[in-house]
Amino acid sequence: MAFTPALVLGCVDASVQGGSGNGDEGSDFGVGEVSVGLVEINQGTRVDVAVDGVAIDPEARTSALYTGRDAWLGVHVEVSEDWAPRSLEARLSLATEFESWTLSQTRFVSTSADAEASVRVQDDPEGSFWFVLDAAAGQTDPGLRYAVELFEADGTPLAAAGSEGFEQAGFEAKTMGVELVVVPVRYAENEPGLDGGVLDDLLDGFYERNPITELEVTVHEPVEFDGNLFELGLLLPWLGELRASEGAAPQVYYHALIDVGEPTLGGLRGIAGIAGDQPGDDVDRVAATVLWSGNPGLSTVTFTHEMGHAQGLVHVECPGAAPDGVDGSYPHADGLIGARGVGLLRADIFAADGAYDYMSYCAPRWVSDFTWGRCAERIELLSSWPESPPPSAGLGERVLMGLITPQGRERWWWMPSAGPSSSASRAAGPDRLELVDVDDVRHELPSTRTWLSDERSQWIRVSVPAELAERGGTWTRVRGELRAPVSLGR
Ligand SMILES: [Zn+2]
Repeated sequence: MAFTPALVLGCVDASVQGGSGNGDEGSDFGVGEVSVGLVEINQGTRVDVAVDGVAIDPEARTSALYTGRDAWLGVHVEVSEDWAPRSLEARLSLATEFESWTLSQTRFVSTSADAEASVRVQDDPEGSFWFVLDAAAGQTDPGLRYAVELFEADGTPLAAAGSEGFEQAGFEAKTMGVELVVVPVRYAENEPGLDGGVLDDLLDGFYERNPITELEVTVHEPVEFDGNLFELGLLLPWLGELRASEGAAPQVYYHALIDVGEPTLGGLRGIAGIAGDQPGDDVDRVAATVLWSGNPGLSTVTFTHEMGHAQGLVHVECPGAAPDGVDGSYPHADGLIGARGVGLLRADIFAADGAYDYMSYCAPRWVSDFTWGRCAERIELLSSWPESPPPSAGLGERVLMGLITPQGRERWWWMPSAGPSSSASRAAGPDRLELVDVDDVRHELPSTRTWLSDERSQWIRVSVPAELAERGGTWTRVRGELRAPVSLGR
């Protein structure tokens, strides 16, 4: 059945009904003017699709909209000063080439919707009309068109959102995939409990705050950590080795969950690498979150936060919590999210000034438009990589990695190279790695240093030609006068 835009067009000029000439005093029917001020589609963060009845071209919007992910469509009405409060119906018509839908909502309208507010009609009479678009039903398909109309409660047409009638919603069929391996860590006879919705909470919180259409999660068999875990960061080399030994593709994230018997380990709830955007930055696509059985809910935002680091994000400053290494390009004051957020699974709305970015340390935490955009870039890029890297990637090279803990302890291990890495564009760090090989020949290699997310631990990375790595010998880290033996393994 075809949709007829004319059905909508006919309503446009009916929006204005002057008060005085409109009959008897007993009824406010028709008094004042109402129009659709803003139409927004929200899949986690606000994207304006029409302002004052004028559609915004998908190319000119603040973010893409994604097919295969549910969406909320918000209709924010504006009323004139002489508006007589009364019930209105908002009708949303949706159409694809194959199907059409009409959704309707009626509520009492007393003032203009606060276009910045977080409320919706179910919670507050001053809220906006919100419609849920169901991805599974095809309501986020590419080519979906929409039209918004307002009616008096008796069905008299009032206003339409766009003078052209149906407009393109602008959903794009991009693959926004994240591949994630969750590794429960057995440590000191503890194992994190993932049942009873605990794991679901972690994953849902991550999904809701990221532009993901396909979240592919593998829950690993529990793995024993038998070292002395005096620093949470020690989990990352261990996890990196596991990741490498299992031949994970460069885009795959490994995330360890550990119950250390208390909410933090030395004040840390989580730690992660801060990954660049090259395949060979896979060493940083590791994270660990403390999942304490006493209160697993503490870990939900931490899990998303650490995934943020592993996706290349650093911290965002907020009042009373100013970590080092904050992102100076963050655009919103006080670390606020700056754009209304919608939690698709929790069915909740966050006002632009009602939550802080999840890369900050202030609560409540949601995703800003800025962080959403940064993760969108990263997710789109990693989704474009092949399932397994070409056999030539990283050939002829091995990576020697070192962790330096805040106490100055070192832990070294070998990684295969997954190809180019961001370290190639970094300035050399203060350390040189010296190899005295089995033939007593001395070689010196430069290294790079990067911080882990705790801003206290550091990675040292050395690219080693495969022939040198195979030859073997004695490795020493040299920094000025300092000569520290490099011992591989725990
Ligand atoms: Zn952090």
